[in-house]
Amino acid sequence: MIKKQLLARDIRDPATLNAMRIVPRHEFVPINMQAYAYADHPLSIGMGQTISQPYIVAYMTQILKLKNHHRVLEVGTGSGYQAAILGQIVDSVYTVEIVEALAFTAKNRLSALGYNNIEVKSGDGYLGWPNKGPFDAIIVTAGAEEVPQPLLKQLKEGGRMIIPVGPHNGVRQLLLITNKSGKIKTKAVMAVRFVPLTRKNN
Ligand code: SAH
Repeated sequence: MIKKQLLARDIRDPATLNAMRIVPRHEFVPINMQAYAYADHPLSIGMGQTISQPYIVAYMTQILKLKNHHRVLEVGTGSGYQAAILGQIVDSVYTVEIVEALAFTAKNRLSALGYNNIEVKSGDGYLGWPNKGPFDAIIVTAGAEEVPQPLLKQLKEGGRMIIPVGPHNGVRQLLLITNKSGKIKTKAVMAVRFVPLTRKNN
């Protein structure tokens, strides 16, 4: 996975590569899918949930330019795999999952694997996690139709956010959003497909 899927493409950040080497991806998929855990594609793992392709996980992690002391927010915990990758690199990770059963499973899995620097909560990640912010980096792993304003407000000055934005059931663009001294800049970096970001009341 590391050589063929990451190094052979454009993943160069040592911290990202190291995390991708260490985190046991097979622990985050159901037993009947474990044989495919390291394959070069996303995996559907029930309840409308998908673990992104390893390359996309690495790409979205690398682009955040994470440092050890960073505080990071993830929206869309899913299996907890992306959170574990982040938790391998930074001091504190906060991750929000709208499906309560998924949040519960991910929380138990992450603590069983020894990730005690990751907090999981069940809720609507569109709203972020205001009392834990502001964040050095925000990663949204579900596809949004627009950039959630509450997340922009929780991004620190100098912070970076990566989020797939576009129409539901279509191709979205991964947007890299930076906050340079209060000035928000947006850049489309890749076309992607993601499961939709849903809201509690629709
Ligand atoms: N990062 C995950 C994969 C995410 S799949 C992993 O590494 O396994 C997208 C997830 O986003 C799904 O679990 C879905 O339930 C969740 N989701 C969708 N809308 C959400 C919202 N508004 N807030 C939080 N989570 C949401």
